[in-house]
Amino acid sequence: MQLTFVKKWGMIKRKQSEMLFREAAQRMPGGVSSPVRAFKGVGGTPLFIKKGKGPYLWDADGNQYIDYIGSWGPMILGHSHPAILQAVKKALKLGTSFGAPTESEIFLSRLVQEAFPSIEKIRFVNSGTEAVMGAVRVARAFTQRKKIIKFDGCYHGHADYLLVKAGSGAATLGIPDSAGVPEEFVQNTLVARYNDTASVEELFQKNSGEIAAIIVEPIVGNMGTILPRRDFLLKLREIASREKALLIFDEVMTGFRVAFGGVQELYNLKPDLTTLGKIIGGGFPVGAYGGRREIMQLVAPEGPVYQAGTLSGNPIAMAAGIATLNQIKKLKPYESLSQKTQKLTLGLKEAANRHGVTVTIERAGSMFTLFFTGEPVINAEVARRADTQKFGRFFHAMLERGIYLPPSQFEAAFVSVAHTEKNIAQTIAAAEEVFKTL
Ligand SMILES: *Cc1c(COP(=O)(O)O)cnc(C)c1O
Repeated sequence: MQLTFVKKWGMIKRKQSEMLFREAAQRMPGGVSSPVRAFKGVGGTPLFIKKGKGPYLWDADGNQYIDYIGSWGPMILGHSHPAILQAVKKALKLGTSFGAPTESEIFLSRLVQEAFPSIEKIRFVNSGTEAVMGAVRVARAFTQRKKIIKFDGCYHGHADYLLVKAGSGAATLGIPDSAGVPEEFVQNTLVARYNDTASVEELFQKNSGEIAAIIVEPIVGNMGTILPRRDFLLKLREIASREKALLIFDEVMTGFRVAFGGVQELYNLKPDLTTLGKIIGGGFPVGAYGGRREIMQLVAPEGPVYQAGTLSGNPIAMAAGIATLNQIKKLKPYESLSQKTQKLTLGLKEAANRHGVTVTIERAGSMFTLFFTGEPVINAEVARRADTQKFGRFFHAMLERGIYLPPSQFEAAFVSVAHTEKNIAQTIAAAEEVFKTL
């Protein structure tokens, strides 16, 4: 396999990125606007990205990469998709923000509600973090209870009370609990073990009548990809209903990623509330939460649960989201995305086996994680046992070969519609070389 654009190990120029990073680090904590971008989990200098097109990114030194981060999930159509660029340009001509309702919010809500029948009413916000904060607030108001259950390793954004045993950047940096969060703020957050319904039952027994909601990444992306085993999600649905607590599916990552209607479509389950983000913004800052009408009508101004946003429902962001979802509707890409990704993960697994490298690859449709462990990864405890040193070496060797993977063992990689069979073959060929050296 000819790796045409990929330079040889150790040959890639990083001068510009290194220079930019030095200045950025003087001006911004860690030189970045979000922690995991800083490569702390793998060491080295982060790449400064100049542009993206289709499956490719180009850094400030002009190096080209096959991108498997996809802006951490949103870019399911690849970068600079013409339909999105066109929709954004068209919207821009009308102005950028009005602080008043626009028709575009109705269009996006129609598309979302068509995909997610459980979302009878929806509120748009600017990020996944905000979506989760809104959902938890309304859940507490509806049930008139204070406590929530989350799962070890699941990440739901950076609200104070959810930075408890959180995944994503927090997992990478080894700070499951953030400084600056008073104990009082997390005393109503109970932590259960993913894929372990007994741990949930135990919390309900000990906190009977006090739990407002269970919040879960129904397929996990933020401690690396982890799938729900057996009937875990169904059991959560049953427990929540029995206990009159709400079930919140945090589908910020999985919504429109694993299926048009997210994990709830795949498993045919109805959460009471759903949070969305990432793909619904088409690369712009959008989040949303929604669910049963009787719950959502508690949200201001219909009800007493306050939640607002100067730029919420921003018309440019809505236009990007609408264009993205319309493209997905037209392309129906999930089957082919899944096959393409399976080809990649099988190829990676075989390459690892050939060179005696122990890996477990967990995959859900077009999201996957290659864990350096021999165990099936069913929860955060197992994920944490993966060899992060080895992952770091793998990551950098792949990067040198033009393959841009998430710079952390505890993040999902994403395949987009734009990735070609050739990209997949190039990636496997690069991994083959790398596994030989590990
Ligand atoms: C990304 C993510 C969030 C946070 O979204 P932001 O837009 O980064 O605030 C919340 N929950 C899940 C499951 C996510 O993947």
